[in-house]
Amino acid sequence: MTFDYDLFVIGGGSGGVRAARVASATGAKVALAEEYRMGGTCVIRGCVPKKLMVFASGYSEMFDDARSYGWDVQDGPFDWTKFSGKMNAELNRLEGIYRKLLDGSDVEIIDARAKLKDPHTVTLSTGQDVTAKHILVATGGRPVVPDMPGSELGITSNDIFLLEDMPKSILIVGGGYIASEFAGILNGLGVAVTQFYRGAQILRGFDDEARGLVAERMREKGVDLHLGTNIVEMRAATADDLAGVQTGVPMEGGKPASLRQDSAGHGIWVKSTNGTEKVYDQVMFATGRAPNTDDMGLQAAGVEVGRRGEIVVDEYSQTAVPSIYAIGDVTNRVQLTPVAIREGMAFVETVFKGNPTAVDHELIPSAVFTQPELGTVGLTEEQARDIEPIEVYATSFKPMNHAFAGRDDRVLMKLIVSQATRKVLGCHIVADHAGEMIQLAGIAVKMGATKEDFDRTVAVHPTMAEELVTMKEPVRTA
Ligand code: NDP
Repeated sequence: MTFDYDLFVIGGGSGGVRAARVASATGAKVALAEEYRMGGTCVIRGCVPKKLMVFASGYSEMFDDARSYGWDVQDGPFDWTKFSGKMNAELNRLEGIYRKLLDGSDVEIIDARAKLKDPHTVTLSTGQDVTAKHILVATGGRPVVPDMPGSELGITSNDIFLLEDMPKSILIVGGGYIASEFAGILNGLGVAVTQFYRGAQILRGFDDEARGLVAERMREKGVDLHLGTNIVEMRAATADDLAGVQTGVPMEGGKPASLRQDSAGHGIWVKSTNGTEKVYDQVMFATGRAPNTDDMGLQAAGVEVGRRGEIVVDEYSQTAVPSIYAIGDVTNRVQLTPVAIREGMAFVETVFKGNPTAVDHELIPSAVFTQPELGTVGLTEEQARDIEPIEVYATSFKPMNHAFAGRDDRVLMKLIVSQATRKVLGCHIVADHAGEMIQLAGIAVKMGATKEDFDRTVAVHPTMAEELVTMKEPVRTA
């Protein structure tokens, strides 16, 4: 049987684009369909614009710090319009690069939505059917908004980059990566930020000590974080609400600062489980993401879909239909760009290079771009002590640059060590640039380095990271 293509990729995000290019380089005839903008979540409405906003936000503290170091600088307002114009130009540039890379790799780009018809056929939104020997579904995920009265008034991380104006106040719902990152970003940009998290501490699943410090520092920087709290109900604010209830921003001249020029209806009234009623300019839900599997023709083609809507795959990213594979967030394994890319490369090794390659999901380093950042690899103290006897090495201190600037920021460096093998099972860093540090510590941990290997490594002085190789005594065993 002859097919139109050797490989048809659905979805132009990080995973799909990489798989398409690498497959094409083996001589395969490849097409890729994308219904929106090339680059996917990471480039268009995720990692990249988020990190640019992290950088922008970080400058707010630098005026004070610079003055502490002898510079004569004045604080100035943040101009969202100017910044977002530049940010969008940068995203356009990156999207252009993605397209060029695909073109240069002889991948045919199809600007249309594609869905499965059968194990070897895809139907395009243009109405055309095309056939392929292999089909790779890399359609990613989307934010999920809880079903509660008025929740349609809220925005998600998709919308935040597209706002025409920065809100003066915002309520962020959720305690995961996205909620906690945007709480810090927007707080740094001058927005009055309230964060509701339904559980006992934000960043569930991360090391308790590390997430405790992140939460403490976020509060000290001005985020009004409420734990064990959720929204009961929300609706457009009325004039009475604006007159009668508290707002998410400080009062000015007897009126809430954010709403002074606005007429009723511009704010969102929120009733929370802690009994408070407040009006916020915006409410953002960062309450998790769901795989993009709706109306994809998956069931018709025989592809198994799991309870959370994810495509079920084996370790080679193969679905129940031998000709159909899936990678990235749509499989709901580990929702991280570099993981999707690796899954894409492993798919090409397996299918186009005759070298069956399972994706290694062990010991993935990652960073949460909160302020301060949290970098992590391996087991948390809580996970490790349930598995085997451990030693915990930890130090928390004021870094030199902050101490000199008169800031109270503390950082945390923490190693979890196996008593039996001496291997470093986990490394957790809360500090500026923790993301950069954990990338390097991640190599050592992945290689199976022992605590003694860390100790044998000479410190780089004076740095924060040197503490990782100078911790002599465990603070506790468990
Ligand atoms: P997460 O799953 O990390 O967090 C979702 C949060 O929303 C949790 O705190 C959860 O609470 C809460 N929540 C879920 N449902 C409700 C509800 N009905 N009402 C109130 N709260 C609710 O998802 P994110 O959207 O933050 O991020 C998705 C993924 O994207 C991450 O897991 C990560 O893999 C990836 N990502 C990575 C980044 C990075 O590498 N820096 C940055 C951003 C995203 P509970 O804990 O109680 O379940």
